[in-house]
Amino acid sequence: MTASSKTLIGIDLGTTNSLVAVFTDEGPRLIANSLGEFLTPSAVGYGDDGALLVGRAAKDRLLTHPAQTAARFKRYMGTNHEMTLGKKAFRAEELSSFVLRSLRADAEAFLGHSVDEAVISVPAYFNDIQRKATITAAEFAGLKVNRLINEPTAAALAYGLQDRQGESTFLVVDLGGGTFDVSILEMFSGVMEVRASAGDAFLGGEDFTDALAMELGRQIGIKPEDVSREDGARLRGLADRMKVQLSEAPEARAEFALKGEARPVSITREKFDEITDPILKRLRLPIQRAISDASLRADDLHRIITVGGATRMHAVRQLVTRLFKRFPEYSIDPDHVVALGAAVQAGLAARHKALDDVVMTDVCPFTLGFETSIQVGEGKYEHGQFSPMIERNTVVPVSKADIISPLHPNQHEIALRIFQGESPFVKDNILIGTLHIPLRGGPKEDKSVELRYTYDTSGVLEVEATPLATKKMERLVIEGNPGSLPRAEIENRLKALSAIKIHPRDQHENAALIARLRAAFENSLGDKRQSVGRLIAEFEGVLSRQDVREINEARRNIDQIIGNFERDDVF
Ligand code: ADP
Ligand code: MG
Repeated sequence: MTASSKTLIGIDLGTTNSLVAVFTDEGPRLIANSLGEFLTPSAVGYGDDGALLVGRAAKDRLLTHPAQTAARFKRYMGTNHEMTLGKKAFRAEELSSFVLRSLRADAEAFLGHSVDEAVISVPAYFNDIQRKATITAAEFAGLKVNRLINEPTAAALAYGLQDRQGESTFLVVDLGGGTFDVSILEMFSGVMEVRASAGDAFLGGEDFTDALAMELGRQIGIKPEDVSREDGARLRGLADRMKVQLSEAPEARAEFALKGEARPVSITREKFDEITDPILKRLRLPIQRAISDASLRADDLHRIITVGGATRMHAVRQLVTRLFKRFPEYSIDPDHVVALGAAVQAGLAARHKALDDVVMTDVCPFTLGFETSIQVGEGKYEHGQFSPMIERNTVVPVSKADIISPLHPNQHEIALRIFQGESPFVKDNILIGTLHIPLRGGPKEDKSVELRYTYDTSGVLEVEATPLATKKMERLVIEGNPGSLPRAEIENRLKALSAIKIHPRDQHENAALIARLRAAFENSLGDKRQSVGRLIAEFEGVLSRQDVREINEARRNIDQIIGNFERDDVF
């Protein structure tokens, strides 16, 4: 492999798992983390020594130390919701930045030089606030975002590259942990065009897990919200494992340890499909919308590609097969494909010569506009109408202008509320923020303003206003959305974040094994639990002697034993 001294990395920052990849002369290539794994769980938490752990160790500690650990924070991107780790509260941007930092360190260890720029994938249906939050997360991690790429577009790039001279139309269905995206792409001689995207930023595999956790709780007579944080986390963990088992087998059985007692639980695929049917139904609308927006019929699609861990579910495969009357493809590992595509985009951005003939265009998946008022009589106005500026599925980058005027000649400012959505009424759309446009001059002057919306290739919106009287353009900052951080606050938090101690990368394997052993201890009962207890004591003893060779050997041995235990799987 050859890598130039400045390498752009491609990152899939997932709700559940994150990955990093680079573009090489041999094509896109995944980079393993310090545990030798490509998937880094998107989990963050404080270890016993007060240093921050990222990835598998944090994920396992979610069971044993839920108050010190956070996961699934991507769903809070672009909101004010904070998650508490120990005594400190963090926003999703901050938690995500730890994952990004960890991936960046893995890439640097692999490449042998520092990395400061990345292409990061986001759900196509992520709104402007969520996209800006992702860019802030990267900034917190010391990474400049070269471009945000939509996840299904990234997946399509990875597939398209395999068959770059082909001519086809394909549909990508991406159901991850917390988000759902559908995109339709057309490819001809190396040119890939996204025709339409649709989705739901709050629908994913985790919703199926939650539904199953409720059902398991019902079987053992507890409500997930009534049990301790520890028991709740274990019940959810069990539901997640049983859900995954159902993708392979018609039934899953397990035991849940409650107050020292093993309580049996079971679920058939049929019952699971029944309780998750309302969630499954929500997949249909975005698929139909994408097809109709692309002015196509289901028969026009040559290839159906499924991406994301949750598309492994039987009911999801069945739904897709039924809708398109054919089996979906997944020749590239659905866990890897988005990161590989992000690396292809990184290669395109770096003008890698192997990608000379590849061109990719994308669209904005939703309509952007502003609130207007209509005069309905003398001094009477109807407020709350949505006036579209950029319509959904317009090719990006795009720039559109419109002239707006104040309602009253005495106004000194127009407070323009910017919305995203498809409803004619702003109350049903998402408020992106408010733009304060200053109006100068007296009541007799022309106070019309040319408003320009520019939507860049990352799907990020910028707005400029030019008063027609002065022709002096102002670049305005969209303000007032509680979900986005003001500049000064970003600087403050950046400083605070750099003071947080991160667990040393070279000791991550030990921390991960301890976390895994403790989770197994918590999950098991009886003899098995005692055996796990002995392994913990043994490994902690070895660690305290600080002999690297002894530690490595003990880790390998214990890893094998615990692997066998986990396969028995009586949790
Ligand atoms: P993200 O991109 O959001 O991180 P992933 O694509 O990694 O998400 O998918 C994670 C989701 O897929 C989780 O909800 C997980 O439980 C689910 N999942 C992973 N493997 C399977 C499987 N074999 N069967 C069913 N669901 C699965
Ligand atoms: Mg994903």
